[in-house]
Amino acid sequence: MFELLGVLRKTVNEALNECIVENPSTTSIDLHRMKERERALSKITDLHAGINTFAREVEALLQTCRTQYESDIALMGSFLKSKHVVNETWSGPSKRFMSKTIMSPPVTIPTSITTPPEYSKVSIVDSYNLMAIRVSEFSEIKTNGDLYYVESADHFAFKIANVLFHGNIGNIYTSENDPTRVKNCKFRGNCTNKECMYYHDPLHNPGSRDVRNFISNSWQYISPGCQYKNRTRSRRFGSREYIEADLPTITPEEVDRFYDQTVHDLLCSLMLNRYHHV
Ligand SMILES: [Zn+2]
Repeated sequence: MFELLGVLRKTVNEALNECIVENPSTTSIDLHRMKERERALSKITDLHAGINTFAREVEALLQTCRTQYESDIALMGSFLKSKHVVNETWSGPSKRFMSKTIMSPPVTIPTSITTPPEYSKVSIVDSYNLMAIRVSEFSEIKTNGDLYYVESADHFAFKIANVLFHGNIGNIYTSENDPTRVKNCKFRGNCTNKECMYYHDPLHNPGSRDVRNFISNSWQYISPGCQYKNRTRSRRFGSREYIEADLPTITPEEVDRFYDQTVHDLLCSLMLNRYHHV
């Protein structure tokens, strides 16, 4: 690298020697010297243009490398936070290469090696599965970006901002013929009917392995004032312009369904990510 700079510097110095004359005469013109100066000027002009182009290419390369390095650091930060990976000898990001925005959150290096959580396949249907950390109870879910699978409930679960989300991928009914488990059972925690076709949330009904199903209208947003026969079974929250009107009118049943739909959609997205990556 420094040899290259040395060659460049030598070329510039040679051109300078050809171009600069000490104590030039002010009373006569040396045509030979003028020719030499023109050649030197031409050489320096070419060199200047070449260096500018080269500098832009180096700058683009530098930006690419820096971006990749910063994404490595961000990934390392998230790994360290979730304690997936620990390299005790890693001393943190190099200030020389980092932009200010990336440098601001300090990265804490754990002092001991931790065991990465173990992901295993959880079957969705015969040929498709999702990867999750198997746990026995909801109390084991942590806010750390991992996807868990609560074996006792047959529910996936995760925590974001300390809010617990749980559920599984349910059926979506496109006709109204006897949809099952699309509404909460009204005997919350006290249902004794083993044939009950309503949904029993395992958090409120210990031992339940129900998965909520949906009707297709559940994804259809209905704005305030809109007359629609399946209004309460549709989506009545989520449009930014009507949040203030919608939020006070939404029912606990709709809130529960919204949470479960969120999990359903998220799990579907993870399946697409796993099997249909573009
Ligand atoms: Zn019931």
